[in-house]
Amino acid sequence: AEKRTEELIEQTEKYGAHNYHPLAIVISRAEGVWVEDPEGNKYMDMLSAYSAVNQGHRHPKIIQALKDQADKVTLTSRAFHNDQLGPWYEKICKLTKKEMALPMNTGAEAVETAIKAARRWSYDIKGVAENQAEIIACVGNFHGRTMTAVSLSSEAEYKRGFGPMLPGIKLIPYGDLEALKSAISANTAAFLIEPIQGEAGIVIPPEGFMKEAFTLCKENNVLFIADEIQAGLARTGKMFACEWEGIEPDMYILGKALGGGVFPISCVVANNNILGVFNPGSHGSTFGGNPLACAVSIAALDVLIDEKLADQSLELGGYFVSKLKEIRNPRIKEIRGRGLFIGVELTEPARKYCEELKEQGLLCKETHDTVIRFAPPLIISKAELDWAIERIKKVLS
Ligand code: PLP
Repeated sequence: AEKRTEELIEQTEKYGAHNYHPLAIVISRAEGVWVEDPEGNKYMDMLSAYSAVNQGHRHPKIIQALKDQADKVTLTSRAFHNDQLGPWYEKICKLTKKEMALPMNTGAEAVETAIKAARRWSYDIKGVAENQAEIIACVGNFHGRTMTAVSLSSEAEYKRGFGPMLPGIKLIPYGDLEALKSAISANTAAFLIEPIQGEAGIVIPPEGFMKEAFTLCKENNVLFIADEIQAGLARTGKMFACEWEGIEPDMYILGKALGGGVFPISCVVANNNILGVFNPGSHGSTFGGNPLACAVSIAALDVLIDEKLADQSLELGGYFVSKLKEIRNPRIKEIRGRGLFIGVELTEPARKYCEELKEQGLLCKETHDTVIRFAPPLIISKAELDWAIERIKKVLS
């Protein structure tokens, strides 16, 4: 007999490292916005695997691309060319209006790639003295879990016991232009920013900040790097969250929905004068740019574009927020978001509410202790959203 929820959780807890604190639910099937546990109970997914499933679970076109490619070739390594990489390069470059891309697998690896590119650019092009390059990042950031990414972090628990950290990093408060001004020096290679901080609790910078920060970077020959791994690819109601302030960063870092929640793929995209600093032998990954990931990613991007998921996110996100704002509850401190990327900040820990929402058939995850993040797959229908709102009202009222 197939294992049941309780047994599966026990097994997971017994043999797995305890580096996560999941809700007590096992998902064994999924389709669209719905997931199912081994007992056949259905839930609506309001997290979308941290925005990796923007296209919905198992989108038929993405699954078809996976199956078709699996029947041809899955991995060549970059020792040889494969027939999916070129088409994928062209697609992602045209979408981002950049000249070059470099594929990796996970978000954190793409962040690593961005930092390596920025550092080498600063030495080879900008003329920073050897080993003096600095990266400016923001307090509250989340760029992943590798040593570079945790070195960038301001969270003590992300770093505790993992030192020594990577040098050459400066942090400024998120959205503080004066602090950015003071932090920039002749050695600054790049300013790295999430256009909206996801893990910090859907934090949006003050209006105008991104644009002014971009201008400041241009004036000082500093690369402006946007980590759009979570906020990008239609999540906020625009293809890229930077569009909210009308800027085109020097470099995009993408991941998550780039593989439609079906196969991991991430990348950095920038112009020649930046990504051109990589030469053979300077960077790589065995699985980076593999044909299976590229085929899946092409389909995943097609779904975002063909189904106009950015517009869908914008429209339904606005509707969702207006409904959330009807809830009268003094424990709701703030409701903020762009598109279907929404945070409800409470005056108390959010975990209890996420557990209650789960009992109602809705899967959400608290972030930063007091924030409930609502980020359903972007293919959600208005009727499904109404179904969710009814339950959220019940739990939050
Ligand atoms: N950057 C941002 C903005 C993220 O939200 C995440 C993941 O949540 C990452 C980087 C890391 O991506 P991954 O978990 O695929 O390494």
